[in-house]
Amino acid sequence: MRRKIAILGATGSVGSSTLDLVERSPDRFEVVAVTAAANVESLAGIARRTGARLAVIADETKREILAELLAGTGCRVEAGPGALIEAAAGDAELVIAAIVGCAGLMPVMAAVEAGKTVALANKEALVTAGELMIGAAATHGATILPIDSEHNAIFQCLAGNNKDTVSKIVLTASGGPFRTASAGSLEAVTPAQAVAHPNWSMGAKISVDSATCMNKGLELIEAHYLFGLPSQRIEILIHPQSTVHSLVEFIDGSVLAQLGAADMRIPIAYALAWPDRLETPAERLDLAGLGRLDFEAPDLERFPALRIAREALEAGGAAPIVLNAANEIAVDSFLKGRIRFPEIARTVEQALAESAAEAPRSIADVLEIDRVTRERAEASMSEVCP
Ligand code: NDP
Repeated sequence: MRRKIAILGATGSVGSSTLDLVERSPDRFEVVAVTAAANVESLAGIARRTGARLAVIADETKREILAELLAGTGCRVEAGPGALIEAAAGDAELVIAAIVGCAGLMPVMAAVEAGKTVALANKEALVTAGELMIGAAATHGATILPIDSEHNAIFQCLAGNNKDTVSKIVLTASGGPFRTASAGSLEAVTPAQAVAHPNWSMGAKISVDSATCMNKGLELIEAHYLFGLPSQRIEILIHPQSTVHSLVEFIDGSVLAQLGAADMRIPIAYALAWPDRLETPAERLDLAGLGRLDFEAPDLERFPALRIAREALEAGGAAPIVLNAANEIAVDSFLKGRIRFPEIARTVEQALAESAAEAPRSIADVLEIDRVTRERAEASMSEVCP
């Protein structure tokens, strides 16, 4: 029996790595639904190649073009937010959640509420609605498998171990392209420099998040919800080679780590095949060739996003939603050349300081806090650079 999968965000970086694996194992997987935001040509190509039965484009103005591109294939074409939810909650057994940003929240929640197995790359969905999502997964019998390489590493290290025997988890971070840059030089960083990650090939938003280290801050919050540990028991460690993807320390002093090439196909394959494993074409580690593995404490002065994210996690309530929304707006503004690199963290910190939002009790509350924060962050951005 082939496993039916839906790929939300099929045209992106994680979506492409997923497709690469799935297309190498046609006997194991059947792609039933694929989605994208606006990239119709690429989505149509993927739907044709995989034989998907449903193709969804979030941008409703692109529905007709997609329908023309897929005419005669038998693939149903839909558009808009409701159709994304349909793709997530439809007949797939495994949903790959690879939409970027809070835009992925509703489809991920729909998959969780439909009791699916969700392979989660879309960390922003968990950061903004962690408690609600973990609660819904328990209620509806959904399984969340982390695709983010660090969380996938922890998940692998925890396999077969009693979670009560974990003393702490350690998330590794490459430090991004500016790990050794002086604070002054960060003022002049360009979007092209920020998206050029030294070890990983990823989408633009997460690449900028890696450069500011906000990515590790979001991952800290993601780890808190996924593994149920408080902030004090989640450590962040800079590891420039991106070979050790994360570590778990147990009460007896043992430390387990997962190592591998910096290739997203490894954690994605683990989620696709779990609890089995899937062969991948990823490069094998050559530890003798590598020679050394380095670790250092993060510099919270040059990379304040790490401190800000930890404060947001510890504050709880609406703070992680505000953090994420302000960050999405600030990163977008930086990529468009409207603000300078260090202003990303400043914008987020200002949004957190000004927010009086109460803890969300529903997904509707989460979306409202997200909306209000985005509007305010946009407005503050226009004041900086109209
Ligand atoms: P990309 O920018 O490469 O791809 C994003 C995907 O989401 C595209 O398919 C895009 O469609 C779609 N999308 C964007 N906006 C919307 C929207 N408003 N509604 C519906 N679909 C939308 O991102 P990545 O693949 O890099 O990242 C995806 C997620 O995975 C992020 O949350 C990221 O943090 C996480 N992640 C990524 C890793 C990586 O290696 N790339 C590693 C670990 C986690 P279109 O092409 O039409 O714009």
